[in-house]
Amino acid sequence: MSVTVVGSIAYDRVETPFGRCERMLGGAATHFALAASFFDEVRVVGPVGDDFADNDLAILQTRGTSTEDVERVPGGKTFFWHGEYGWDLNSRETHDTQLGVFEHFEPKLGEASRSSDVLFLANIQPDVQRGVREQCPDARFVALDSMNLWIDIARDSLVRTIGEVDCLILNDAELRQLTAKPNLVQAAREVLAMGPSVVVAKQGEYGAALITADAFFALPAYPLESVVDPTGAGDTFAGGFVGYLAAQSGERDDATLRRAMAYGTALASFNVEEFGTKRVARLTSDEIGERVRDLQRITHFEDAPVELRA
Ligand code: AMP
Repeated sequence: MSVTVVGSIAYDRVETPFGRCERMLGGAATHFALAASFFDEVRVVGPVGDDFADNDLAILQTRGTSTEDVERVPGGKTFFWHGEYGWDLNSRETHDTQLGVFEHFEPKLGEASRSSDVLFLANIQPDVQRGVREQCPDARFVALDSMNLWIDIARDSLVRTIGEVDCLILNDAELRQLTAKPNLVQAAREVLAMGPSVVVAKQGEYGAALITADAFFALPAYPLESVVDPTGAGDTFAGGFVGYLAAQSGERDDATLRRAMAYGTALASFNVEEFGTKRVARLTSDEIGERVRDLQRITHFEDAPVELRA
């Protein structure tokens, strides 16, 4: 059993009200892999340039993650992203995106990655995502992320790709943009009609919501006193969520999906405590377990009879 992730491996420059980091390991596939590797063997597919450092490759390989399909492009530069957050950490401005080796990226999956039973298509061009999906016909669970850029310039292709996956994990605002429905439940229903059986709406510091044909579930984000850098929170959430499901040998019932939400939420909460991959890179399984138990306690309540006035 293994999880294959296809997506960006990056160097990020990030500024937040709490500091800045000039160049740090990032990318959707990186954040996803660090989180998902707590649950299953992960295989990363993505390109890097000559400038990609060996110690960053070692971080990708944490807990035995395979980098066999990480393609090092001679003479190429690793994808670079520069973003800035204001006091509202839910919104960010992208100052620069240098595609580098990502520009002509044609994912080539080796035999082992093609036969993974779980696949995560991180945010890349939707035609490319569909190409990868076709290389993995036997995957029993496929999840997909995307972004506003592709909704703006490649919506039809994105909708086709959504039709080929089991689960869409998207930012709340992007879900509304994709479906032109201002109401979250209606937007999710529209996505369910496109093909997936599970929709997850990421809501930044407000948490995440899960919508299936017959259930709705939501969790707040873990209440942290200090958030330093939200970059990669969505991909870390996806790593926890998809990773947990990968470890449940095919179970997709409501209770399992709810627990997956808790693991995604717990993992994402660690990611935002420090810049880049720093916090998750030294995270322990005990710390994750403790935070999942905290979440269970925080979100539990018991109803008691009360006389309501007519
Ligand atoms: P998140 O905060 O979960 O949306 O993920 C942020 C990560 O996505 C950063 O580490 C960036 O390197 C990466 N990223 C930013 N823009 C893009 C893009 N256009 N395509 C692929 N990855 C991107």
